[in-house]
Amino acid sequence: MKKLMILGLWAVATAACAQSDYDKSRATEVYTPVPKAVDTTGPMPSDAIVLFDGKNLDAWDAVNGGAAKWTLGDGAVEVTKGTGDIRTKQNFCDVQLHVEWMTPAVPAENAPTGQGRNNSGVFLQERYEVQVLDSYQADTYVNGQAGSVYKQSVPLVNASRPPLTWQTYDIVYKAPKFDAAGKVSEKARITVLHNGVVVQNAFDIEGPTAWIGHPPYEKHDCAPIRLQDHGNPVRFRNIWVRPL
Ligand code: MG
Repeated sequence: MKKLMILGLWAVATAACAQSDYDKSRATEVYTPVPKAVDTTGPMPSDAIVLFDGKNLDAWDAVNGGAAKWTLGDGAVEVTKGTGDIRTKQNFCDVQLHVEWMTPAVPAENAPTGQGRNNSGVFLQERYEVQVLDSYQADTYVNGQAGSVYKQSVPLVNASRPPLTWQTYDIVYKAPKFDAAGKVSEKARITVLHNGVVVQNAFDIEGPTAWIGHPPYEKHDCAPIRLQDHGNPVRFRNIWVRPL
């Protein structure tokens, strides 16, 4: 009988203790702000801004003036050599960006090599390039291959698909911050998934992309997303962005 009573008291005490922990847990629960619902059942998140859906280049301008002059066809747009880079009309800071790209076939004989093997690029804020290149069983300097932050960060792996195969970049980008004196106070930070594989993991960008040297940051505001005309017929399709 006594044993039963002790057991009963223990059960009550345990229940009281559990209740108390539950109450304590409530203190760290947060109910606002409620995240906005995003529908992900479509071809892109419902809150994405479509930059290119295969129909027109209305969201883009030529960097050297006027309308974007790249070639539309088959739901894609192809770099037209010599017409220059194109950039979004809209400015962006922090973004999630989705871009699909494809490089053309390479001839069996005298295939282009290195940086000439169908080069383009995705520039965040017009300054910071994620390299687009045929890096499938093709060599170049590794901080210049597909998935690199050009001349700054080697991709973690080579996730390249063969030419004539669509590839994806999913980029999460945090814009740099500058102090009142114009000095960078927080570097740009970039994560890149190439064909669904992480190739850049929160890399702190060292400064604007350059072919020669490492120029320092210069203060800037939100800016367009830019695609590179490197003289090669690289194609793009299905480009969308979510400002963060
Ligand atoms: Mg490039």
